[in-house]
Amino acid sequence: MIRTLRHTAVRASLAPRVAPLLASVTRAFHESPNKHNTTLGNVNYPSPVALKHDAASLEKTSTEYLKNFTNGELLSYFVIGLATLNKPILNLCIKMFPYVPMPIIRALVYKIYCGGETVEELPVTAKRLTERGINNMMLSLTIEACNGNDNVDPDFIVAETKRSIKDMLIPHTLNTIKESGKDINSIPPGYVALKPTGFVKDAAAVLKNYQTEEYAAKFDALVAKAEEVCGTIYEANKNLALEHPERTAPFVVAVIDAEKHELQEGVYELQRRLYAKFNKPNMPVSIVGTLQMYLSQSSELLALEEKLARENNYRLGIKLVRGAYIHSEKNRQEIIHSTKENTDENYNQGMTYCIDSILSDSGNGNLIGHLVVASHNDVSLTLATHALANEAYQGNKNRNNIVLGQLLGMADNITHNLIKNYKVDNIIKYVAWGPPLETKEYLLRRLEENGDAVKNDNGWPLVKAVTQVLSKRLIGA
Ligand SMILES: Cc1cc2nc3c(=O)[nH]c(=O)nc-3n(C[C@H](O)[C@H](O)[C@H](O)COP(=O)(O)OP(=O)(O)OC[C@H]3O[C@@H](n4cnc5c(N)ncnc54)[C@H](O)[C@@H]3O)c2cc1C
Repeated sequence: MIRTLRHTAVRASLAPRVAPLLASVTRAFHESPNKHNTTLGNVNYPSPVALKHDAASLEKTSTEYLKNFTNGELLSYFVIGLATLNKPILNLCIKMFPYVPMPIIRALVYKIYCGGETVEELPVTAKRLTERGINNMMLSLTIEACNGNDNVDPDFIVAETKRSIKDMLIPHTLNTIKESGKDINSIPPGYVALKPTGFVKDAAAVLKNYQTEEYAAKFDALVAKAEEVCGTIYEANKNLALEHPERTAPFVVAVIDAEKHELQEGVYELQRRLYAKFNKPNMPVSIVGTLQMYLSQSSELLALEEKLARENNYRLGIKLVRGAYIHSEKNRQEIIHSTKENTDENYNQGMTYCIDSILSDSGNGNLIGHLVVASHNDVSLTLATHALANEAYQGNKNRNNIVLGQLLGMADNITHNLIKNYKVDNIIKYVAWGPPLETKEYLLRRLEENGDAVKNDNGWPLVKAVTQVLSKRLIGA
């Protein structure tokens, strides 16, 4: 099976030479009946005006969400507010960031974006999230290597990731199910995000050239490392499903993160091999791959993944992101949608297509088995929330296979409003963790992203809101 798959995947790569293959795939969501986002199955969405109104209320700034944070965390938000006051200040901060000494970064911003330095520190973050109504998380041991970082030790990453699953994610998920008093299906799974660049030395070259003789063995070694982690997840799901047959969603899920575009061919191949091995038909999905919707070919890519899954008899799990590498992509004009509006439209179309697909069945029979709506965008989150809140789907157990995710430290007002005002349970935070020096690149991307999203939750409104909450707390003003 793996051999056939590898062969198929090589033919099916996204490189320009095989573009005609993508064009020949017919079931792209562009052609799906939901392309205007007005219906979901037999469910009507609110009108665009109502949707915009709801989305605006989701984004509404109030100081309420800041009350959940400690004084130290509030100080960090104050710093982020100052750094994002306007574009020139932000650009200056981004330029200076690589030269800022690590102790300063650690003291000022590390703790709001990162969950801890070791597995042992993660339970504190988990507890803090539970207090805010966030019942699970997507852990990511963040040791970035896409730019040739030689500090990567794949054995360490595999061992620590497995430890984070066994010592942290599984006990936390089971404990939350027990303690919450809620239905077993309403608690989202625990996720572990896997960075493909962490599983082998010289990862960028291996992912770029995985089809060549020189790199094939190294790529196989990368896949083997990922399989070690995914095997732990798969076995845990199998065993826990026997103990808790009433749960339809998986308990733990491995998610393959998407990297910059030139590495993605190798990442897609890795995802396909993991899907084939661990996402068995009629069983909950253990592996979720990532689709970057800013890519102009993402619709065709999803159709291709469906085709391969059908042909090779496995299920798909999908994390939909817009994409984090827009600032560093060399061929941006060729590969990324030309406007933000196009990316947004493509994201929402893809999302409603996947939701529709998952909710078209109430068991584990459908091709797309699990979706993570990984976004801070108010309209996308409102669309997803409307679908899940619709009465027509209340009895559908596959609602639990659709989960909303935001990054720790980002869009906290939106996360708060989703939980408090929309009573959303299916929500998680992406929690990067690891040695501070290794997470520096991740932190830089978060800073850049703040520039894309200079919205109500940063800049001057954030500075003002933090000052209000802090002064009330400290001097009762
Ligand atoms: C749980 C989680 C997991 C994630 N995992 C990954 C991952 O594995 N790989 C990855 O790449 N990213 C990942 N991300 C980051 C994600 O891609 C960014 O959070 C996202 O880009 C921000 O978009 P948004 O959906 O929050 O919406 P918004 O803030 O509304 O959109 C901003 C995004 O729109 C796109 N955009 C902006 N301007 C333009 C333009 N002019 N033309 C075209 N497109 C434009 C860019 O993608 C930009 O980042 C993850 C995010 C979350 C929440």
